[in-house]
Amino acid sequence: MKMFTCHCGNTLFFENIHCLSCNSEVGWCPACHRMSGLLVSPDGAYRCGYTACHAPLLKCHNYVVEQVCNRCLQAGPNDQLVTQLCDYCRYNDTIPDLTVEGNRERWYRLETGKRRLLYTLDLLGLPYGKAEDGIQPALSFDFKADVSLSGNHWHTMGDHEQVFTGHQNGKITINLREAEDVEREKLRVSFGEAHRTIIGHFRHEIAHYYWEMLIQDKQEETFNRIFGNYQQPTYAQALERHYREGPPSDWQANYISVYATMHPWEDFAETFAKYLAIVSVLDTARHTGIGEGIDPTKADIGDMIRSYQRLGLGLNEMNRAMGLIDLMPEVLVPPVIAKLQYIHQIILEARSGMSIPPATRSST
Ligand SMILES: [Zn+2]
Ligand SMILES: [Zn+2]
Ligand SMILES: [Zn+2]
Ligand SMILES: [Zn+2]
Repeated sequence: MKMFTCHCGNTLFFENIHCLSCNSEVGWCPACHRMSGLLVSPDGAYRCGYTACHAPLLKCHNYVVEQVCNRCLQAGPNDQLVTQLCDYCRYNDTIPDLTVEGNRERWYRLETGKRRLLYTLDLLGLPYGKAEDGIQPALSFDFKADVSLSGNHWHTMGDHEQVFTGHQNGKITINLREAEDVEREKLRVSFGEAHRTIIGHFRHEIAHYYWEMLIQDKQEETFNRIFGNYQQPTYAQALERHYREGPPSDWQANYISVYATMHPWEDFAETFAKYLAIVSVLDTARHTGIGEGIDPTKADIGDMIRSYQRLGLGLNEMNRAMGLIDLMPEVLVPPVIAKLQYIHQIILEARSGMSIPPATRSST
């Protein structure tokens, strides 16, 4: 992630809504692609604060009304009269029940993770969109709680009491419970996970989205060779076995995480999520002057991994100095690196719009 500069000269961050120095309102400008201090005219209209841009802007509905977003849209002549959803909020199909105390704060935390995910996808030039954009599968998000607190009584939400965090046909569902630190930490410890974060959930679920977009019916043979046959055992059989037997004792020799051992789809999702984390770490390091300044959108995967591992040595020690869990706890063994290389390749192909056609897939 970059850091940005307000028109007053102060540093702005991706999550800001105010400049702490000049008190200007702050928002993402889609014209110059950065966080910007907003200039307000006497009639209340906004413009981007960058001298070279000054685009007329409109705050997202979820910024003005719901206070869970900090992005703007480019404003047309009559647009100041109506609020609209920004380029990132337009994917929300279901938002939390805001009559429940605390849900707005939980929703805010999920939106923060979602914005960081979409920023990384934009950085990599990965395609995503809605049906009207001509993109398949069409991306959408559901943010739901499985129970709600009403008065002093817990009551169910109806027939589908339990909401599973997951992906299906382009829809990413996140259980609102994942936005609560205590709940998430309990789950992390009970599942023996190194990390459990909101951004991590988004990175994992978007991987299933890209499996459907880039691999299904296109390069399944190559996928099966690298991650294993996803049809045998079936997902249901693999799930049952995983919770009955647990992971193989030597799982770290082949997998990025315990969950990755469950089924080839989850191995792909866990490894793809790690790839996005590596990109995000390298991009942030570059813009904050830490490490070698590798640009993850241009670098070779070998250089990316070497740079990430070197950063990990220092940053893990830094966390230990502060009594925190390791920032980069995983070991990138050769079989995991081979999977990351494949993911790097499909991302390069998706970016250039040259996915491997089915006719040539068996030769790769
Ligand atoms: Zn300022
Ligand atoms: Zn601008
Ligand atoms: Zn928005
Ligand atoms: Zn998954």
